[in-house]
Amino acid sequence: MKINKIVLGSLQTNCYIVVDELSGLGAVIDPALYTTELIEAVKASGMTKLQYILLTHGHSDHILGVYDLKKAYPEAMVVIADEDEICLSSTQCSLAADIGLEQTPMHADKLVGDGDSFNFGTITVKVILTPGHTPGSVCYLFDNTMFSGDTLFCRTCGRTDLFRGNLTDMQSSIVKLGKLQGDYIVYPGHGISTTLDAERKTNRFMRKIEWSLL
Ligand SMILES: [Zn+2]
Repeated sequence: MKINKIVLGSLQTNCYIVVDELSGLGAVIDPALYTTELIEAVKASGMTKLQYILLTHGHSDHILGVYDLKKAYPEAMVVIADEDEICLSSTQCSLAADIGLEQTPMHADKLVGDGDSFNFGTITVKVILTPGHTPGSVCYLFDNTMFSGDTLFCRTCGRTDLFRGNLTDMQSSIVKLGKLQGDYIVYPGHGISTTLDAERKTNRFMRKIEWSLL
């Protein structure tokens, strides 16, 4: 599996272009904006078909490129959790309204929930619902690789003070990720990548030390 990261938009969102080299199929995770850089990265990836546009949650800084990417690749399936599908049509839920951004209403092609899995070429993608940042935040597991959105970051976790955020849910979600079997390379929605083992050792939220201070 080949992974390329590009950073898009003023909030420096990580967008990942993933290719299953055995099948040639591709996926774009969190197309924050539809830019020349994204178009070039998809073309340069060598994918023979864009199969999925996977969304870790519905905030505007992760989804504003979806409409145009889907228009360019109509066969690509837009995937989001049930609880965050509303963000594709509500600028209040996506927070686009808060920052004065335009958003073309969209719909998902596939809604996912906790424990779901689906095929991506030769890879089985597993969905873990990790609410807290938003009710429909998910992590996508590709073998030993995790795309953690705005739930788990290197040494910290996502905000819970935004509209639809929930601190108690975030706490449970971070603990849930810590309890997964084995190690994962973690690619978050913002900032640098990490590993689950490193977070188990050093992330104050995963070690549950920080919660009592909040
Ligand atoms: Zn977010």
